[in-house]
Amino acid sequence: HAIQRASINSLLEKILTFTSPMLREHNIKLVTNFDQEIPPVMVDAERIKQVFVNLLLNGIQAMPENGTLTIRTYGVDDWVCIDFIDTGKGISPTEIGSIFDPFFTTKEYGTGLGLSISHQIIKAHGGVINVESTEGIGTIFTVKLHLDGEMG
Ligand code: ADP
Ligand code: MG
Repeated sequence: HAIQRASINSLLEKILTFTSPMLREHNIKLVTNFDQEIPPVMVDAERIKQVFVNLLLNGIQAMPENGTLTIRTYGVDDWVCIDFIDTGKGISPTEIGSIFDPFFTTKEYGTGLGLSISHQIIKAHGGVINVESTEGIGTIFTVKLHLDGEMG
């Protein structure tokens, strides 16, 4: 896979073009708040898009009937940050420590691989992925990519 200088906002726009029908199907309102000032980052664009799709699909699966998915980008110091915020069922305190483990799933037909792979991809970029969740309220996943990351 090729490492290239990419605009995170453009990568998000790309995955939204083919995932927005699915959001509509589940009555999920999409809110985007992209900071147009964030600099491009050196990434494996295909892999980073895979992470974004995983986070978006998990958000949809947490809000099967309806809800709001907010995607935000912003800069903090030398980091480009991406938030995926859903108003879904949330993650219990007993489960939250396991969600990045391979094969951990609470879904009938889940593989439990999405977050484990996403975590590996972000780590390989010298980045960070964090989660905050409240049961019955929703979940925030934050991806942070450093401007001088491993692949930068
Ligand atoms: P899968 O989606 O196949 O279950 P993942 O690795 O993507 O595997 O996620 C692991 C588990 O983390 C899920 O089964 C679910 O319990 C929890 N999870 C992940 N994202 C969310 C979310 N946005 N809201 C609620 N729970 C989530
Ligand atoms: Mg998943």
